[in-house]
Amino acid sequence: MNPRELQLAPDANVHAVESAARAFGLWTTRLQGSDGHTAALEIQSHSQWVDPSELATIPGVSRVLGTTSGHPRVDSLKGQQTTIGDAVFGAAPVLIAGPCSVDSPEQVHACAAMARAAGATVLRGGAYKPRTSPYSFDGTGLEGLGWLRDAADAHGLAVVTEVMSERRVDAVAEVADLMQVGSRNMQNFALLDEVGRAAKPVLLKRGVASSVKEWLLSAERLLVAGAPTVVLCERGIRGDDGTTRNLLDLGAVALLKRVHGLNIVVDPSHAIGRRDLIGDLAAAALACGADGLMIEIHPDPASARCDGPQALGDAELERVGALIAADPRSTSVPSR
Ligand code: PEP
Ligand code: MN
Repeated sequence: MNPRELQLAPDANVHAVESAARAFGLWTTRLQGSDGHTAALEIQSHSQWVDPSELATIPGVSRVLGTTSGHPRVDSLKGQQTTIGDAVFGAAPVLIAGPCSVDSPEQVHACAAMARAAGATVLRGGAYKPRTSPYSFDGTGLEGLGWLRDAADAHGLAVVTEVMSERRVDAVAEVADLMQVGSRNMQNFALLDEVGRAAKPVLLKRGVASSVKEWLLSAERLLVAGAPTVVLCERGIRGDDGTTRNLLDLGAVALLKRVHGLNIVVDPSHAIGRRDLIGDLAAAALACGADGLMIEIHPDPASARCDGPQALGDAELERVGALIAADPRSTSVPSR
């Protein structure tokens, strides 16, 4: 139960209850009865979560009312790990690396070799690409899926790849160890239902402008439809300042990891859109508790057919690999 309202006894000292609530990390607003008296304190949603039984002990509180989350299946994933090949999300941080788009067998093999050398356990790569313009290259399709699987097998890696259409769920499920639902499709409910039916673990990217609640409800839909588990991926949301490609919401990462106990990775490549700053966001993401990073790479970024400007080369990927190996999550967090 999420506490939402502290009902007050008739003789309650409102100031004292407010002050006790503040001490618990709660933001509250007074609710007045028709007689003008403060009858209750409403708890704002950005407050810290506190066990309702503790709140009930505050002198002057007569009852604690709450809401249920609406995503019980997601809640039940709390503290669980997700194993995909050699990657265990929820244990040591995982490196997922690979090209934005699977361009050719040579390119994806070279990426798999780079990924493996940097310590990655999962190879990413889109055979079906969501492109804003209908004139942009949109992937090598079924052929690309085969190249991706071959390259991963040759280097002992698991595969994550995006499924964009209900019609391609079976084909993608055949090669993917982890089915990726992209940002633009986070609320494509027909697709989510169909992907869930494939009964494979899903990597659910956050929608371009989605709230955390909407994201978790989409994860719930996948679980209801049959997905055994969902790993979340924060990739930045749309801000009102286009200077960086997107706005990386690390507050959501800390919340979903530390409070909800979910498996969550961060994609700094799409968040920032430029390779010189990916390392900084990667470090920050790990410090916030991320279970892993998803990084776009290319053996020759100049020739990439998609997202070349944000693709890391060998040396830069090695540095991210070293960061993952150092596991900055283990450093202490002062406020907890
Ligand atoms: C991707 O990871 O290939 C991709 C297209 O990312 P997003 O859905 O986050 O834009
Ligand atoms: Mn990309």
